[in-house]
Amino acid sequence: MKPEHVDVLIVGAGLSGIGAAYRLQEKCPSRTYAILESRACIGGTWDLFRYPGMRSDSDMFTLGYPFQPWTERKSIADGPSILKYIRETAREHGIDRKIRFNHRVRRASWSSREPRWLVEAERGPDAEPASLTCNFLLMCSGYYSYAEGYTPDFPGITRFRGRIVHPQNWTDAVDYANKQVVVIGSGATAVTLVPELAKSATHVTMLQRSPTYVAPWPDEDAIANALRRYLPAKAACAITRWKNVLAGMYFYWLCKNRPERAKAMILDAVRAELGPDYDVAKHFTPRYNPWDQRLCLAPNGDLFKSIKQGATTVVTDEIESFTETGIKLRSGRELEADLVVTATGLNLQVMGGAEIEVDGESVTPGRTLSYRATMSSDVPNLAAVFGYTNASWTLKADLISCYVCRLLNYMQAHGYRQCTPRNRDPDIVRLPPVDFTSGYFQRAMDKLPRQGSRKPWRIYQNYVRDLMMYRFAPLHDGVLEFSGPSAGPGSPATSPAGRALEGVRTS
Ligand SMILES: Cc1cc2nc3c(=O)[nH]c(=O)nc-3n(C[C@H](O)[C@H](O)[C@H](O)COP(=O)(O)OP(=O)(O)OC[C@H]3O[C@@H](n4cnc5c(N)ncnc54)[C@H](O)[C@@H]3O)c2cc1C
Repeated sequence: MKPEHVDVLIVGAGLSGIGAAYRLQEKCPSRTYAILESRACIGGTWDLFRYPGMRSDSDMFTLGYPFQPWTERKSIADGPSILKYIRETAREHGIDRKIRFNHRVRRASWSSREPRWLVEAERGPDAEPASLTCNFLLMCSGYYSYAEGYTPDFPGITRFRGRIVHPQNWTDAVDYANKQVVVIGSGATAVTLVPELAKSATHVTMLQRSPTYVAPWPDEDAIANALRRYLPAKAACAITRWKNVLAGMYFYWLCKNRPERAKAMILDAVRAELGPDYDVAKHFTPRYNPWDQRLCLAPNGDLFKSIKQGATTVVTDEIESFTETGIKLRSGRELEADLVVTATGLNLQVMGGAEIEVDGESVTPGRTLSYRATMSSDVPNLAAVFGYTNASWTLKADLISCYVCRLLNYMQAHGYRQCTPRNRDPDIVRLPPVDFTSGYFQRAMDKLPRQGSRKPWRIYQNYVRDLMMYRFAPLHDGVLEFSGPSAGPGSPATSPAGRALEGVRTS
């Protein structure tokens, strides 16, 4: 039997997949589409992570969709509210009806002869084979493996008699009330988790090898809440979104161009929270500059308040080994623990772990060059959504979704069936995709598509620059190669204009 065919196939029903589906419905209403989602529900990250206190660490006016106003009071929102928001968006726009749940995409093979993708998935608990074909594949499968988080090989870990849990595997069955808890790590997850656990644990120790920048930040946006009193929700959200975009860009610029000033601003705020006697230099002053790694937020200074109350202690030291009752540190100190939480990061994964083939040849994503931060060199009709590392994910995800719609409409108008980025410039230097020093990027740098030294191969972490590029840059840029007018009746291929367009064109 011939597999079912759709014009566009979206992989993933998380924040990006639902946003992309909305944009397709809005901007390409004549295109058919479906979403394949490996899990049984919508939400991705915001459903997977169930640890106490799970929340955003960027504001919801930029993490939310521009087309769906964020109406809650809190701007730094908790996980369940974000999940509800994504699900309501999907329901309100009928996107939920397009999702095939429990379909894990394993392989996508492009045939230039057809030209289309054959997408093979495993369905349900018995991994029954299921396949679809599509003209365009839009990967909204996130950036990390859902199978397992990253836990370093800690010496002696099997000796420990208490419980060890990675935040990615947290369930309600993890009991931390009246327990001695050690959280290993000081990234966004640890900073979120620690003050929440400290509310009912006997004591929480945040054990870090080296410090992270943590900035206290109000969880409500006073300007947004005031604007909402006078303006319709959509207008209030749009103004707040721009306010936050520009403020974020300014602060990022400051971090990159005046790092000492940015550092002093953050550390002054930390000192104001913790008082003059706290060793801020040891526990909250990283070796790197702000935004060389992701900056963490402490809503209303919750982490610092927990430290001041004595419910949380920060220890900056290295693990020598686990013992039966806790963790022995390089300094000789021992930390007793009933529960150890390994907030040690994620395992990066591209293309949802699926194999990608083009005309029978396997594609290694790390060998490709990223075109406009979404397509890959020599891979036709495929775009992948990847958000910003220095700002809210959705800012870039939405720009990419709109760009894909522009591309699809252009191809339809000109009768093209295939578009492929081709690098013919020998002077393009292949560079790492991000200049982030975070461990999870460093561990996976080889798996990610590279960026090139010049546009359109360069990846920018700048919303305004990207906005101009995705909206206005010519699609026929001499790099994106278009080919194959469709041969159906009435299509451009059967018209004189269409015949003139036949064959490969890279003008
Ligand atoms: C704990 C945590 C907190 C975060 N907080 C923020 C924040 O505050 N601000 C911010 O900007 N970013 C944050 N991020 C980054 C965050 O992942 C993005 O903001 C956003 O949720 C990504 O959405 P997504 O839909 O692209 O990916 P995901 O949320 O990862 O969703 C991907 C979906 O694709 C599905 N999928 C994957 N592979 C396949 C496959 N092969 N076949 C079928 N389906 C597949 C998954 O099941 C999932 O549903 C956070 C990340 C984590 C882990």
